[in-house]
Amino acid sequence: YFDTPFPLPKLDMVAIPDFAAGAMENYGLVTYREVALLFDDKSSSASSRQSVAITVAHELAHQWFGNLVTMEWWTHLWLNEGFATWVSHLAVDSFFPQWNIWTQFLDSTTTALRLDSLEASHPIEVEIHHASEVDQIFDAISYDKGASVIRMLQSYLGAERFQKAMASYMKKYAFSNAKTEDLWAVLEKETGEPVKDLMTTWTKQKGYPVINAKIKGDDIEIEQAQFLLDGSSGSGMWIVPITSGCGAYDTQKKFLLKLKRDKMVIGSQCGDRKKGGNFWTKLNINGTGFYRVKYDDELAAALQNALETKKLSLMDKIGTVDDLYALSIARQQTFASLLRLLYGYRGEADYSVLSHINTVTTSIAKVSADATPALAGDIKQLLIKILLSPAEKLGWDPKKGESHLDVMLRPLLLTALVQLGHGKTINEGVRRFNIFTRDRGTSLLPPDTRK
Ligand SMILES: [Zn+2]
Repeated sequence: YFDTPFPLPKLDMVAIPDFAAGAMENYGLVTYREVALLFDDKSSSASSRQSVAITVAHELAHQWFGNLVTMEWWTHLWLNEGFATWVSHLAVDSFFPQWNIWTQFLDSTTTALRLDSLEASHPIEVEIHHASEVDQIFDAISYDKGASVIRMLQSYLGAERFQKAMASYMKKYAFSNAKTEDLWAVLEKETGEPVKDLMTTWTKQKGYPVINAKIKGDDIEIEQAQFLLDGSSGSGMWIVPITSGCGAYDTQKKFLLKLKRDKMVIGSQCGDRKKGGNFWTKLNINGTGFYRVKYDDELAAALQNALETKKLSLMDKIGTVDDLYALSIARQQTFASLLRLLYGYRGEADYSVLSHINTVTTSIAKVSADATPALAGDIKQLLIKILLSPAEKLGWDPKKGESHLDVMLRPLLLTALVQLGHGKTINEGVRRFNIFTRDRGTSLLPPDTRK
């Protein structure tokens, strides 16, 4: 990928008992905590298979990002961690395409979006005055926001142009140091795009925007404002790579939002806007951008319709629910609109989508117990209704030849149903657990279901 082979004669990987960090990328000798490297077909779960693959790929990526090209100073830590996180997904996707790892990558993006919507967040590039200050930036901003803005840039520049430019960067700075500006300079030279101006707004400034989208005649007006989870608004401004799909995925548009406001012309290809028509539009296609989108009522209703008629990609299903969830926590949208949207996900069977739905339903169950105790029981029943049918389809027992993602989905759904108080699931869990306490070898609780 980087057109630069591994330069050392060999690379060893060692598992060490009681190793403090998850893993450490020493040049040519990567050390791991045992669970981060050792895998046993009989006793390990599918999720541990996946996390071993991601961790190994992450550490091997550091042989390029970190060891071959080393950041000049800790301020540029994200050049190590953001890139290693991004490359680990690139590598795992190439080895295990059936894992849909880029869809799962949205876990990293949503984690970073949550942390970065707090007033107390920090920019990706932080001034570090002393090496002892470094520990505090080994966090989701350096790893997950770092990796997410790389994905955003790659999507804006195009995969092929990005890869070629990264190969030039690797060659130019091999066996030496680089800082963030050095990377932007190479990318700018190779692509002719305003990479430095664009990316500086994302790496030197904390937070991110919410894009407010309103339909006016044949235009969609868009306006950016900093999104903060406490409902207040900040003064940040970004250069935002906007992507939009309209009526279908093959009519995608992209442009840079450089000002506070702008508008996009939508033509008749977005579908018929009359009642019962097939009109819909979605911004931030496949969640490649590090921002949220708030739609006006007409656009939101059209998007819900697109969801229910199965027009949206897996990644867009995730982005749609996560944005509305965050907006309702920030009191920019109603709780009722979130429940209405969630109900549109009944019948969903995909692991990554359901994993996000599960995060949202868990939070809703907690919030409603405090905020609307009289309705909490009904809300739980609604949430159970969304999760029960995929759980019943999967059942408790693994099926021969089922996919990696279905194997990971089973414990996710069963745990969620238990937490929501679903009696039948709880009773079956207790029954199987009692058998397990008498017979550790029972097939009734395979490694994946042991939680
Ligand atoms: Zn790392």
